Amino acid sequence: MSEAVLVADELVAGHNGIPAVQGVDLAVAAGEVLTLLGPNGAGKTTTLLALAGLLPLMGGRAAILGAPVDHRRPYRTARRGMRLVPDDRGLFAPLTVQEHLRLAAPTSDPAREKAVLARFPALEGLRTRKAGLLSGGEQQMLAIAAALVARPKVLMVDEMSLGLAPMVVQEMLPAIREMARAEGIAVLLVEQHVELALAVSDRALVLNQGRVVLSGAAEHLLTDREKLTAAYFDSPEPH
Ligand code: ATP
Repeated sequence: MSEAVLVADELVAGHNGIPAVQGVDLAVAAGEVLTLLGPNGAGKTTTLLALAGLLPLMGGRAAILGAPVDHRRPYRTARRGMRLVPDDRGLFAPLTVQEHLRLAAPTSDPAREKAVLARFPALEGLRTRKAGLLSGGEQQMLAIAAALVARPKVLMVDEMSLGLAPMVVQEMLPAIREMARAEGIAVLLVEQHVELALAVSDRALVLNQGRVVLSGAAEHLLTDREKLTAAYFDSPEPH
């Protein structure tokens, strides 16, 4: 495997001094898609926030392109090419599709906008529509398209399927997969639609109570449903 772009090493992070993620190791290489699975409250969002520098680490290490993630300066992590699409999508209701795409990159890059929109053709005819007037699926596409306009090295997407029909998710996940491959973006997804996510992923990790309880190639996890189900529902062994 090529060298990892995104690395978590014994990552400990949480809220109000209480760890929600307890010693997570992960690595995502350029062009690779890794999915974080697990039940509600397992620590998936906490992991993404810590990797993005939006939560302080309580232990361990996080790095992007070999540089440590510094929660006191999360803008540096963003400048290095990290984009996080949060589960609420992070859009501004009064701004149009076009305005979101313009604001996404430090300098205007119409060619890039065009290339990204080609992956999400449903947005093409909606350029002048305000984000607040888009459907849930269109909003999700816009959030991801805006992240991609910035030519990220790392893209993290938190529960993109929240409130969306599986068909919409089925359309969007392959677009992310293709962009990752074509541009060497390291992608970390958090997803509840297990089968859809595994179908576009190289590897997956299952978190349960803040610990990695199962990891492996996506195709193996897809064929070993019993193991996957057990990882969701069994309590992890105490360390
Ligand atoms: P979900 O699928 O429900 O979003 P998750 O796997 O993303 O779950 P997290 O959101 O990371 O899990 O939550 C991990 C733990 O941290 C949970 O026990 C949750 O209650 C707690 N937690 C999350 N956010 C906060 C917060 N802002 N303040 C306090 N505790 C929090």
